[in-house]
Amino acid sequence: MTKYVFVTGGVVSSLGKGITASSLARLLKSRGLRVDMLKLDPYFNVDPGTMSPYQHGEVFVTEDGAETDLDLGHYERFLDQDMARKNNCTAGQIYDNVISKERRGEFLGKTVQVIPHITNEIKSRITNVGGPTKDIVIVEVGGTVGDIESLPFLEAIRQMRLDVGRDNVLYIHVTLVPYIRSSEEMKTKPTQHSVGKLREIGIEPDIIVCRTERPLEEELRAKISLFCSVPSEAVVEARDVPSIYEVPLAFEREGLDELVLMQLRVRSHRQGLQEWAAMVDRIRNPKKKVTVALAGKYVELKDAYKSVGEALLHGGIANDSRVHIKYLDVESPDLERELADVQGILVPGGFGDRGVEGKISVIQYARVHGVPYLGLCLGMQCAVIEFARNVCNLKSAHSTEFNAKTTHPVIDLMQEQKSIHKKGGTMRLGVYPCKLKPGSLAASLYGKTLVEERHRHRYEFNPKYRRAIESRGMKISGEYTERHLAEIVELPSHPFFIGVQFHPEFKSRPTRPHALFKGFIEAALEFKLAQNREPSAAPVAL
Ligand code: GLN
Repeated sequence: MTKYVFVTGGVVSSLGKGITASSLARLLKSRGLRVDMLKLDPYFNVDPGTMSPYQHGEVFVTEDGAETDLDLGHYERFLDQDMARKNNCTAGQIYDNVISKERRGEFLGKTVQVIPHITNEIKSRITNVGGPTKDIVIVEVGGTVGDIESLPFLEAIRQMRLDVGRDNVLYIHVTLVPYIRSSEEMKTKPTQHSVGKLREIGIEPDIIVCRTERPLEEELRAKISLFCSVPSEAVVEARDVPSIYEVPLAFEREGLDELVLMQLRVRSHRQGLQEWAAMVDRIRNPKKKVTVALAGKYVELKDAYKSVGEALLHGGIANDSRVHIKYLDVESPDLERELADVQGILVPGGFGDRGVEGKISVIQYARVHGVPYLGLCLGMQCAVIEFARNVCNLKSAHSTEFNAKTTHPVIDLMQEQKSIHKKGGTMRLGVYPCKLKPGSLAASLYGKTLVEERHRHRYEFNPKYRRAIESRGMKISGEYTERHLAEIVELPSHPFFIGVQFHPEFKSRPTRPHALFKGFIEAALEFKLAQNREPSAAPVAL
């Protein structure tokens, strides 16, 4: 029978519930247990696909094409396991389903209410992730205890203990224990209040995970234990660590996995986190350092590029290098100066025309100066536009996303997309196969000729321009053969210049860095060596 661990958060948001849940998942998986995860989000958007990255951070895309909360990215990276549509559920989906059922007459004339109809729907989404192939499902409840929005979710998880039995459900509450500088004290009151709120609605937490800046001394543990009615060994310290990937190791030292399994009455042996620890060790002790520019629109909010940042870090791990990311505002007046001290340039995905011309200038700089370039989705489309304008001399080249009337639509909607687009638009979402050209940079990086990558875009490289562009030296080295869509472009005359129509960042894992990011960082390190040899290297003529 599947057992369920529910992770709630109190006091403030951004406490790292996602990292806590993922780290616990990693610990349990490393003991040979079959683990899965679910994120419950209390907002009414049916999925975060329509939400601004400014408000909500990146939209994470799964293999099966679901647009999900960015925490699913953490789940995949920590667990090294693919998530799917069923692993993220929003209040919007719950209400949408319940209202559709009501319209179809499925409630047989009953009054439809939060309890039991909404809560039943929530519970069915939870148990749907469990099943005979899962030992433990970790469910993260979004939002903070005390929010009006989270109440139906908390009520549903309260009922779960009655439904599936005491030994099969565990509640973990993540709180903040702040340090007050003026009195030089750590305070437990916010934790007490937050646990009080949970108890009001009938949930007694079994384990309290305390986020702190400083060590949680015995005395404080005893106090939290007394006021919150949990044994003192179930008060777990989660002190700030330099890298999120250190958290599973810290929880292992705190014995969180033992505690969870004891309470759930599961027997399993610790097998240790050797591979994970070795990876963390490489993050802690880099031998080299490299700076890459991330040229995007939402540079003020780093969460908007969460997976890209993580994938760059993974590329660094593979090269024993620390990767410093310079978040570059492409609207800055002196881009050349901003780029002078970077060894690689990355243009990530994006929507909307703000900053597009700046991105194109940055790409031109990378092409002309021989700086390693990695373009992701919009970053690939802009590379094609730049090349068409400045090398093929098609001065008006553009994407019809930004200029519907351009005379050279090098990036455009495909015919079938155009008809769908009129009805509200649809995206190419989720995983598609991509065939690589033997001998290309892409094929040598991946070390194979058929790969699968995740997509999230509407526009495509316009095949009408294929000949013109290829004849001037930009090669299409990856293709979705079924529809003849260009998936990868590269410049064989450049040390490292590659643009991909997909989002490789979603598939990178700390223990299995993605081939493109690994290659990109390697090329950046080589560029750095060349820079040091010849600091004033003249631009490479391309
Ligand atoms: N806006 C572009 C498109 O829809 C690129 C999308 C992206 O970068 N994810 O095709």
